[in-house]
Amino acid sequence: MKHCKWCHKENPQFANSHIIPKAFFVHDGKNDRKILSVGEYPRRKPTGSKDTNILCVDCEKNFQQIDSQAATILLQNFDKYLIPFNDKKDDIALQIDGQHKQAIKRFLIYVLWRASVSTLREFRMIKLGAYEDKIKDALINDKEFGNHEYSFSAFKVEKSSGNIYPRKLNKRAFSGCNFYELDFANFIFNIKVDSRITPEPLKSLTEYEHLVFNKIYETPEKRRQAMVKIVKSQK
Ligand SMILES: [Zn+2]
Repeated sequence: MKHCKWCHKENPQFANSHIIPKAFFVHDGKNDRKILSVGEYPRRKPTGSKDTNILCVDCEKNFQQIDSQAATILLQNFDKYLIPFNDKKDDIALQIDGQHKQAIKRFLIYVLWRASVSTLREFRMIKLGAYEDKIKDALINDKEFGNHEYSFSAFKVEKSSGNIYPRKLNKRAFSGCNFYELDFANFIFNIKVDSRITPEPLKSLTEYEHLVFNKIYETPEKRRQAMVKIVKSQK
């Protein structure tokens, strides 16, 4: 019998776990949601990737509110929560109250944990090693995270291509720290899974009272496609 990767109990009933919650796959009227993995064509999975080997139904239920809280903040109430900068920064960034940082952080590491324990191809770049247990303990104990624990940068994509793209980021860009990227099409997060202090310029943003989302007008995937085109044209 299968063991639940969360409680380790044998349980006859396993949940159809969404690695990335279904709410993030809802069509925004512009683009379909597609999940991407490195070196592959986008795969259209209208409700996202499901893995039936991760969580038993009890565990899935017990931690469901982590996903639903994040969906409430990011998808349902985001516009209501916005706090204007009332200066030029409004053109380049958005901000919401810093009190939401904990809920978003819990959500991001819960998604990373599911991606890490999953054997689905599209999540093969997410491998957290010893952090799998650390994250699980923190979530079970409802830990209050310090600024630099799982610090993250957030981006709001103004023109999303609809692609959802989980991956590990190049360490060199982050002073040698391990960062993972969760690209939810309309929102992108770079999350530090590393005990070292957050490198600048993210350090200052992390310590700032509000949660800041940098506005970006092109997804990384679009930038990647552009690079591939250039490389191909040179052959
Ligand atoms: Zn369980």
